[in-house]
Amino acid sequence: MGEEQKGLVIIHTGPGKGKTTAAFGLCLRSAGRGYKSRVIQFLKGGDRSGELLACEEYLQKMVEIHTYGREGFIGGEPLEEDYDMAEEALEKAREVLNDPEVGLVILDEVNVAVSLGLLGVNEVLELLKEKPEDKHVVLTGREAHRKLIEIADTVTVFDENKHHFSAGVSAVEGIEY
Ligand code: ATP
Ligand code: MG
Repeated sequence: MGEEQKGLVIIHTGPGKGKTTAAFGLCLRSAGRGYKSRVIQFLKGGDRSGELLACEEYLQKMVEIHTYGREGFIGGEPLEEDYDMAEEALEKAREVLNDPEVGLVILDEVNVAVSLGLLGVNEVLELLKEKPEDKHVVLTGREAHRKLIEIADTVTVFDENKHHFSAGVSAVEGIEY
């Protein structure tokens, strides 16, 4: 990474499909340029996704995914372990941000973790404030907090015009997971 280049804070938010996959697109682009990236997944457990399998198989050390969450969605009141795992994920994020080999860090679904109250927005703001200047960070998830939007350099809102789920198509392998 050029010494003089400032790291960007990028937010992918909104109701439409593509927030997480667009973040992985940036990991791919970075890998092609020789920059390592790390993806911290909040609220994601259960089966290994296609992107995780692809990174293990084809991108090895260039893109590493660290997943924190239990299987299924959080419906209703979050459990104690949901809070604990969100904190663990944040701690991991801090660790990878301070790894000099890493250029890009994705905080996948962190916006949802904040909107569910698993993390305080100030904790995330603090993490971004303390990050090394040159690191790029992408925050994904619906309903990004106003304070995060304020400090970001780039915010893209993914709108929903149509989604195949509404027509009764269930999750498609290679497209959804
Ligand atoms: P993707 O992981 O495909 O990039 P995303 O990160 O934008 O999607 P999330 O809000 O994280 O979407 O939701 C995850 C799951 O919900 C995905 O399987 C996705 O296909 C589905 N999804 C995303 N947007 C919509 C929508 N507008 N209506 C219904 N399902 C959606
Ligand atoms: Mg997502």
